[in-house]
Amino acid sequence: MTRKKDKPEPDTEQRASLNLAVEGGEDSAEPKRLVRYFSFTGFFAIIVFTLFLSLFISQQAKNMLLSDNEDYANLVAKYLNRQVSQKFINVILSYGYTSVRLREKFQFELMDRLVRRSIHGFKIDHVNIYDFDGMIIYSTNPNLIETTGQDSEAYKEALEGKSTSTLVTNQGRFGGFGQTRILQTFSPIRRELFDGSEGYVMGVFEIHQDLTDDYAEIVNFQYISILVSLLVMSLLFLVLRQIVKRADKIIEERNAERRRFQEKLHQSERLANLGQMIAAVSHEVRNPLGIISSTAEILRGKLKQYEPDNQLADVIVEESRRLNEIVTEFLDFARPKVPKIATTSLKDVLDKNLYYLSSELEKFGIKVIRRYGGPALIEADPDQLYQAFLNIFLNAIQAMPDGGVINVRTTGVNGRHSNMAEVVISDTGQGIKPETLDKIFNPFFTTKDQGSGLGLSIVKNIITNHKGEIFIEPLHGEGARVIIHLPVKQD
Ligand code: ADP
Repeated sequence: MTRKKDKPEPDTEQRASLNLAVEGGEDSAEPKRLVRYFSFTGFFAIIVFTLFLSLFISQQAKNMLLSDNEDYANLVAKYLNRQVSQKFINVILSYGYTSVRLREKFQFELMDRLVRRSIHGFKIDHVNIYDFDGMIIYSTNPNLIETTGQDSEAYKEALEGKSTSTLVTNQGRFGGFGQTRILQTFSPIRRELFDGSEGYVMGVFEIHQDLTDDYAEIVNFQYISILVSLLVMSLLFLVLRQIVKRADKIIEERNAERRRFQEKLHQSERLANLGQMIAAVSHEVRNPLGIISSTAEILRGKLKQYEPDNQLADVIVEESRRLNEIVTEFLDFARPKVPKIATTSLKDVLDKNLYYLSSELEKFGIKVIRRYGGPALIEADPDQLYQAFLNIFLNAIQAMPDGGVINVRTTGVNGRHSNMAEVVISDTGQGIKPETLDKIFNPFFTTKDQGSGLGLSIVKNIITNHKGEIFIEPLHGEGARVIIHLPVKQD
């Protein structure tokens, strides 16, 4: 059921706040675009930050892996150094050797046993021992023994007593695939003296640790973290987009509401100006009209004596009366009176209206059905209420030129408006078209040849001035229904 509810015009305070809203929301498209812009830049920033963070974290992990393994290699080197110094040297001395000669089978096997036992269980790939000429004199990898040419910086620093580790990346056969990463640690071999202090450098250890798998794990972790972050960020972005979409919708709704308010504000301003003009003109017209009307009455009396059939003066009197009615209606609209509220019987006002209209009702063959119930007394100005109901009844009568039924019903309103009485006036006339329904309360809107279009505007003014409500709706079968809520008399 379509129900057209008429709302009161905004008061001055409302107007002021509306003005602010209108001014504040002028560039409505701007925040909308900004929100979109922020959502995309936000997404971009989050992606960049995520990539940066995962690269940073994996780089940190790589650094930690290197430094841990470096420490590890240094510890192994120290341990080897002790074994060589304490066991190897002492044993060969006890066997009568005066110098280290690893080419000799006994010494080599002793060293090999010692080194292999020492690194057993450690994560060490292989160990080389260099002499001062950069030649490998011992290696856990027999193929490397007696190879020469080591002159790297790390080797030289080890000869000077300093341990250095370097990560060596060997390219695989197929580009990135099969790449190996070896941590190469050069550490001095020192003769440990009897008091436990370190003595002269005897040679250099080279310890190899294969970090390929550990590295691969970190790289995998890096890929996984980037992937997971991208996934989470995409989800976040989708959520953000949803929020932005909703924000867009809300902004759009607000804009539409603002436009409606703006329109209403302009309309009420236009109406206020129009009302002032109408009031001024009507006021000016009324006085000469009164003079014309009374002069015509006198003329009619005089003319009757000489020409009893002459209708000219009657026409002037009749048209002056009609004009006066229009002017009165204009003034009622333009200068609504403040209601003189008193305890009023709803039934009495309605009965008075129907009594006044009885000849009209009879003339058009209209039957009236009254059902009075609900609160008997209301707070209202009986004269203004009479005028409001009169306009509604006249509309109903004009909608039924070939007769029909007017139903008048009064009840109490349940629920929210429990302190309100309800008056329903329905007719079985031509009804209201949907396109008319929207404009029905607009001043000067009329579908009638002789209509002023002010009847319902006046009714609306009167009802809202009574703190009441008015709805008008077409009936499904035929006709229209006007519903009015008015405040009940409080005890
Ligand atoms: P007027 O009666 O001078 O046209 P109103 O403001 O009273 O001015 O009514 C405005 C318009 O509302 C009418 O012209 C008519 O189209 C429509 N209207 C009002 N009441 C009814 C009704 N009971 N049935 C059908 N149409 C109606």
